[in-house]
Amino acid sequence: MRLLFLLFLGILPLRANQPNILMILADDMGYGDLGCYGSLQIETPFLDKLATAGIRCTDGYVCANVCAPSRAGLLTGRHPQRFGFEHNLNKSFPTLPERLGIPVGQKTIADHLKKAGYRTSLIGKWHVGDSVPGMLPNARGFDYFFGMHSGSHDYFPKAEKNKLFRNKSPIKKIEYPYLTDWFTHEAIGQMTLAKKPFFCFLSLNTPHTPMQAKEEDLARFSHLKGKRRQTYAAMQWCMDLNIGKILAHLKTTKQIENTLIVFYSDNGGSVTASHACNAPLNGMKGSFLEGGIRVPFIFYWPKSLPSGKVFKHPFTSLDLLPTFVAAAGKTLPPRITKKGRKRTINYDGQNLLPFLRGEITKAPHEALFWRMTMRGAAIREGNWKLLVNVHTPPALYNLTEDISEQRNLYQKMPAKVSDLWQKLNKWQESLEDTPHWQEDPYWQGYNRKLYSHDYWLTQPAKNQEYHGVREVGR
Ligand code: CA
Repeated sequence: MRLLFLLFLGILPLRANQPNILMILADDMGYGDLGCYGSLQIETPFLDKLATAGIRCTDGYVCANVCAPSRAGLLTGRHPQRFGFEHNLNKSFPTLPERLGIPVGQKTIADHLKKAGYRTSLIGKWHVGDSVPGMLPNARGFDYFFGMHSGSHDYFPKAEKNKLFRNKSPIKKIEYPYLTDWFTHEAIGQMTLAKKPFFCFLSLNTPHTPMQAKEEDLARFSHLKGKRRQTYAAMQWCMDLNIGKILAHLKTTKQIENTLIVFYSDNGGSVTASHACNAPLNGMKGSFLEGGIRVPFIFYWPKSLPSGKVFKHPFTSLDLLPTFVAAAGKTLPPRITKKGRKRTINYDGQNLLPFLRGEITKAPHEALFWRMTMRGAAIREGNWKLLVNVHTPPALYNLTEDISEQRNLYQKMPAKVSDLWQKLNKWQESLEDTPHWQEDPYWQGYNRKLYSHDYWLTQPAKNQEYHGVREVGR
């Protein structure tokens, strides 16, 4: 009896201590498009509150500058180049279907958390492969899936024409007229159903194109000139309200204290297509300028993380997998496995919890790396960034003194350039694979333009007209 009591004391609290994990991913959202990241036009009161009560990160990065590889890296905790996933999916590229996506056999964040005892759900955008059944969410560790396999969706879905699925079944009946509201309803449904800790990946497509918002949300921003910016602001507002609904649900059900919430965007804002604003960062989605890869990142976990902190060290979305596994009280396999001469890197991220708590004060990584073949590559080490775009001369920036990447020091600092080149090359040599497909050549022409636009490097004022880039007539 005493033994049973001790077991009860010892085991039950352990299970009860596992936090819920809610990961909310925005899509193509600008670094400067939340109130708490300096926007003067867009209102996001709930996310601002989350940032104030949690940790707002100034130097959070994604592992890729476009949707699909960024998500593949997040899901596996590995640089997606390690398994050939370097570009957005291209179904017209001559490759085998089983190579077009995250290869079956790569473990996902959901596989790890499911094994750790979690109920796992994915609500929203998948976009990391659907060419063979083994690539779909239910085969990749998710107990429940509601959303689309593709990279975007009409926000006002129609019964006769939509790309939505509930698990493996196509959706025939529209339950909510606006997709962001529907996704929220589904996410809350999953949280309610879970009889054990949940891992909910709310993979929003907001504010990715098509630019579509509800009338009542548009009305709130009727003072903004330019339909696209107005719509963008309305979509952000709607996302924020929905996040507020989720927070209210967690509060009402007394789960908020022990839920780890992470919010970020899968890549930088799409300035030309959706009139996002990355100010003070230069560049946009698709580029290796900061506006393509540095994104808003918020952590919130009242029970276990500090409140009101601003975290300034650089880190990457690849860190989320080890962070979540650690939060769940589990350990990952070794970072590197050696079999004879073969050396496999199992995951690239770091558990961020001790860094976020201030138990470790140094930066989580010595350096961060990016690459997309035919487009470019980059490394950030400390304050320094080497950017090698294939269409423009290489550049070296000091991000502490020059956050907007305006002063290229490449010619002035050859020793620093040489050091960073060597590190970037060493990382590329470690990648173990080559791209399993290439993107459509159209995007290489597009890439050239990304580095020549005249981006806004300061926030537009509350009522100021904003059309993304300053060039007239684009
Ligand atoms: Ca995206």
